Amino acid sequence: MPGMSRNDKIIPLADLRAPRSASLDALIREGANNTAAGSAPPQDTRGRFLHDLRISVTDRCNFRCVYCMPKDVFGRDYPFLPHSELLTFEEIARVARIFVRLGVRKIRLTGGEPLLRRNLEQLVALLAEIHGVDLTLTTNGALLAREARALRAAGLRRVTVSLDALDDATFRVMNDVDFPVARVLEAIDAAHAAGLTPIKINAVIKRGMNEAAVLPLARHFKGTGHIVRFIEYMDVGHTNGWRMNDVVSAAEIVRTIDRELPLEVADANYAGEVAERWRYRDGTGEIGVIASVTQAFCRDCTRARLSTDGKMFTCLFATDGYDLRGLLRGNRDDTEIENAVAALWRRRADRYSEIRGANTGRTQKIEMSYIGG
Ligand code: SAM
Ligand code: SF4
Ligand code: SF4
Repeated sequence: MPGMSRNDKIIPLADLRAPRSASLDALIREGANNTAAGSAPPQDTRGRFLHDLRISVTDRCNFRCVYCMPKDVFGRDYPFLPHSELLTFEEIARVARIFVRLGVRKIRLTGGEPLLRRNLEQLVALLAEIHGVDLTLTTNGALLAREARALRAAGLRRVTVSLDALDDATFRVMNDVDFPVARVLEAIDAAHAAGLTPIKINAVIKRGMNEAAVLPLARHFKGTGHIVRFIEYMDVGHTNGWRMNDVVSAAEIVRTIDRELPLEVADANYAGEVAERWRYRDGTGEIGVIASVTQAFCRDCTRARLSTDGKMFTCLFATDGYDLRGLLRGNRDDTEIENAVAALWRRRADRYSEIRGANTGRTQKIEMSYIGG
């Protein structure tokens, strides 16, 4: 799709950017009424609480992973957001505090590539001041070796580093910018040395591309204290040409590892945890599998997302978001914004992965790099 622009084909951007203040006024009233009725913390229409917030701090990336930001779409002329449209660090911290009042206990900084956002440690410091929150970040690792100490000093607790293969040629093809594996491994070591632990390693497995990476990744990180999480390739966004045949199921991944390195299932750390945990029977650590396609976990999904330009999304596969930036910049006080967010959460009915099928492929989904992976 060369030359395609987000404005005309991929996302109905006019809808996304339009201030939805009228309906948000109604939401503020709705939220206030419910809070007055004593129904906080909010539960959505399926009884799910709000526990996690993923914040996309930039829609830009220095990689072009074939499953996320394919080069022929995210090319030189791709219309990334101008700086004025991004939430400032102060605005992000304000939204985060409001979400924490509504029950959020885990915040993940993501993108795009979050370490491309200049002075990110200043945002980390603001968020680290919020009491009772587990603060973490997902990165491709390209800039992590340089930033790890500053991030830790600012209050970041842990990191997740994405790495799809140990074989250098395969990894270079997958990130599509010829980035070498060795630099990501150095970044993981630097994060470890800086105390950003336990480190999780995210590996998306795509059929015909890197299923041979499963065992080498498991072997390499077994016994290191780092936890590899194998992710089923998902139909996020509108541009990665996803096909069900390209998905390697979590069950197949577990079988592949278990044949050589025996595994047993482990309990979830908390209800709503995305990864299913498996530990090595010899006690040398654990892996996770994220079966978002073959075993939908919408029933326990407690995640909200804040896009780079301040829209709230209640599902990774949403087609539209709610303009919180309009409220932040429109002289609304924190209570009004809190009421609007609570009302949005109470209305939430998302369960895309449970209903994924032939027709859902045609819906206009938001790109993961913008909404936050
Ligand atoms: N750039 C950072 C990185 O890659 O770690 C953070 C953003 S990225 C969108 C967050 C995570 O989403 C990464 O671990 C990536 O592998 C995963 N991801 C991206 N596209 C995916 C897809 N189509 N299916 C499954 N996971 C995907
Ligand atoms: Fe960039 Fe992360 Fe997407 Fe890869 S997965 S293109 S590193 S945002
Ligand atoms: Fe949550 Fe939506 Fe994913 Fe279901 S499809 S688990 S509701 S983000």
